Amino acid sequence: MTEDHDLDVVIVGAGFAGMYMLHKARGLGLSARCIEAGGDVGGTWYWNRYPGARCDVESMQYSYEFSDELQQEWDWSERYATQPEILSYAQHVADRFDLRDDIQFDTRVESATFDDTTGQWTVRTDHGDELTARYVVMATGCLSSTNLPDIPGRDSFEGASYHTGRWPHEGVDFTGLRVGVIGTGSSAIQSIPLIGQEAAELHVFQRTPSYSVPAHNRPLDPDERERIKADYAAFRDVNRLTPTAIGGRRPSIERSALEVSEEERRAEYEARWADGGLTYLGAFTDLLIDPAANATAADFIREQIEAIVEDPEVAKRLMPDTVVGCKRMCVDTGYYATFNRPNVHLVDLRETPIEEITPGGIRTSDTHRELDAIVFATGFDAMTGALLRIDIKGRDGQTLQDAWEAGPRTYLGLGIAGFPNLFVITGPGSPSVLTNMLVSIQHHVEWIADCIAHMRERGLHRIEATLDAQDQWVDYVNMVADFTLFPSCNSWYLGANVPGKARVFMPLLGFPPYVERCTEVAEKGYEGFALQA
Ligand code: FAD
Ligand code: NAP
Repeated sequence: MTEDHDLDVVIVGAGFAGMYMLHKARGLGLSARCIEAGGDVGGTWYWNRYPGARCDVESMQYSYEFSDELQQEWDWSERYATQPEILSYAQHVADRFDLRDDIQFDTRVESATFDDTTGQWTVRTDHGDELTARYVVMATGCLSSTNLPDIPGRDSFEGASYHTGRWPHEGVDFTGLRVGVIGTGSSAIQSIPLIGQEAAELHVFQRTPSYSVPAHNRPLDPDERERIKADYAAFRDVNRLTPTAIGGRRPSIERSALEVSEEERRAEYEARWADGGLTYLGAFTDLLIDPAANATAADFIREQIEAIVEDPEVAKRLMPDTVVGCKRMCVDTGYYATFNRPNVHLVDLRETPIEEITPGGIRTSDTHRELDAIVFATGFDAMTGALLRIDIKGRDGQTLQDAWEAGPRTYLGLGIAGFPNLFVITGPGSPSVLTNMLVSIQHHVEWIADCIAHMRERGLHRIEATLDAQDQWVDYVNMVADFTLFPSCNSWYLGANVPGKARVFMPLLGFPPYVERCTEVAEKGYEGFALQA
């Protein structure tokens, strides 16, 4: 490599993706610097400190596998680890691999500009730093750019307001307060049961009801933990071969929900409900393909809601009528039962929409509710938000904002035509948010590291996705999505939660065939990418 730049690689973000990328880059002998807006490592787990925050992919799976020593020495305490435990795991990884020396915290990357003549990137931060590097790796996170809806009067509220994705480090005590939670996605579903226990009154402002399956969280059985650790690689291998890279407790059976008897189908849903967790949707192969099959899984959940929630009117309002799995499934601990508490009230925004936030509370079309605190559990500008908040200029001064005006376009979710030597980890066009993200992250980091090593060995200095390969890839991703029921609802996968955002299904369904394709691309000398000396 030529040495006319400060660094070989700048990595933006120090969540699980950025941390591992830094470790891998160092392993290749590259000079690398990671820039992180937060005050420590952990990304998602640094920012999302709301009550009840925990993973919903089981901890034995939601962890790095790149170091056997690491996975052997770390003991998860619960089936689904809490946010503090996951954050301390991230901190342990940073200490163990001595990562912090090369991470600049409390610093936001504001722009990245490619210079065609020198073939290098210039990265500028809000602290006035200017770094030049051969490669830039965006490890900025798919769910890191918060979505704070522009509700009239939002900033006039005189009580305390919080976004789940920017929760105060010192925590919040809701005891005795009148609290409003806006949103009923995963963050809301995890926090509402705990806020409901603390608050004097809790009003839940629901626009679209969510499907949620119980977590049945519990301390991890030491025998189970040791059994997995005894052959961790085999456990990971099996899980990686599922479409979501998430292993279940019941075997996946290749059959349609409609080809079994009603009793058999019910028994399968009951068993999965009793097991808990996201693999409920793995019961049959066509649940996300055939509306009639999907309806059987949705009906079962609606029946559970009816059985749990005592007031039939409230139960009815909590029942989603969309395709189950179209919006991401939620995993909860006591969510539906929380509505049996006398201090918890459901406000159905489909009947009585929010008109404004006032200095004293929230006004819906029927009434005004006095509040001391508002929690915005309103999600993220997913997959593209963090990238588009950076002023990224590629070849010929083209901005990413322009290139992605009609929605994100990538090749393999890793590279972007017009943006040489820029890699994205778990970018749109890759399985990413439809998987156990730790698995997807590791796959991408290793692919990028192998690619840089390949180039270095051959004296190549520039790589860029070709427009042709990118166009074909985007068509393929859309074709796969159109084959499923995913485009049928207003999900954040489609960008539908952010007003004005292009409506494009961003992730790619199916982890194993995607991995095969990435391997094939690499084996064919990075087919679909143009490489230059
Ligand atoms: P992040 O963890 O989001 O890290 C990105 C980092 O980049 C952030 O720290 C951010 O501050 C930084 N950054 C962004 N832009 C800039 C910039 N311009 N300059 C400097 N720094 C920047 N996935 C699962 O698979 N299983 C789960 O159980 C699960 N639970 C989740 C729970 C919550 C509450 C949320 C929000 C997400 C969850 N996810 C889960 C998805 C989760 O985001 C990923 O699993 C994973 O943590 C992502 O890691 P990352 O490093 O790619 O991104
Ligand atoms: P989300 O799923 O996007 O949910 C946001 C909620 O806010 C939705 O109910 C949405 O309603 C509502 N909302 C948004 N704007 C609104 C407005 N203007 N008025 C009223 N309601 C509004 O966000 P999230 O709950 O933070 O979760 C995002 C993703 O992060 C999850 O899908 C998951 O991938 C991950 N996550 C995982 C866990 C976990 O269990 N481990 C926990 C949290 C997050 P609509 O549906 O009508 O848009």
